[in-house]
Amino acid sequence: MSNHTGVLYVVALPIGHGDDLSTRARSVLASVDMVYAEDTRQWQRSASHWGLATVASRSLHEHNETARAQEVCALVASGKSVALVSDAGTPLISDPGYRVVAHAQQLGLRVSPLPGACAAVAALSVSGIASDQFVFCGFAPSTGAARRRWLSERASWVSTQIYYEAPHRIVAMLDDIVGCHGAAREVTLCRELTKTYETVRRAEAAALREWVYNDTQQQRGEIVLVVAGASAQVAEAAQWQAIADDLAQQLPPSHSAKLVAKWFDVSKREVYQYLQR
Ligand code: SAM
Repeated sequence: MSNHTGVLYVVALPIGHGDDLSTRARSVLASVDMVYAEDTRQWQRSASHWGLATVASRSLHEHNETARAQEVCALVASGKSVALVSDAGTPLISDPGYRVVAHAQQLGLRVSPLPGACAAVAALSVSGIASDQFVFCGFAPSTGAARRRWLSERASWVSTQIYYEAPHRIVAMLDDIVGCHGAAREVTLCRELTKTYETVRRAEAAALREWVYNDTQQQRGEIVLVVAGASAQVAEAAQWQAIADDLAQQLPPSHSAKLVAKWFDVSKREVYQYLQR
């Protein structure tokens, strides 16, 4: 099907500061036959800034992505070069594009990245929180109960976690982080990165929550939270508690506690008390 000359470029755009567009990204965007943008009006504004206003563009957003995937791939298969961009940052990262890329790969088309800004990586790079192992978690569910369940599942993960959050939910999110990860968990709030009101603040979860709550300025703009991973102690406790819960479905508490205490570095009494609770 493919004549192998067409390329689907996945192009990262800046996350705030227009000058962060790479020279190569600009020249590829100037040369492609079509840009597929999440929001064409937003793209036109950015394109004018970079002198790219004449490049043809079409929309590709979460509501038309499946249909557009066929169209994009047909263009690439016919030898055209196409760029995929989102409003800001790297496409596919909490943004549309996954279906298009997956479809292009299935068809054996060439897909090439133009790397650049990504709010998650920018935040991690200035967070002061361990960066050797991290998990990008995107947006938490927006309602309280679902968000707390989502956070609880992550409370024992040892890797650093990166969350995107909307400004109007930031206080509620920090409340739930305190509740699920504990008041002392280290969190860095990264707000408006590369923009005028850029803010980076690292503190224990409860202190950060108070600071954000008392300063409404911090409840505005675009926000990433970088959350330290659980300590080895917390992670191990979560492990033995899960096993104790399972065993207690089948065995009496004292028997379950004895088995768990044998496998983990925890006393039979502590497990027993946990099961009683
Ligand atoms: N694709 C983008 C990327 O590569 O980061 C993310 C798009 S997602 C729809 C938008 C979210 O990214 C925002 O709600 C915020 O959490 C984060 N974000 C984007 N730009 C940011 C910035 N300049 N400062 C802090 N967070 C930002």
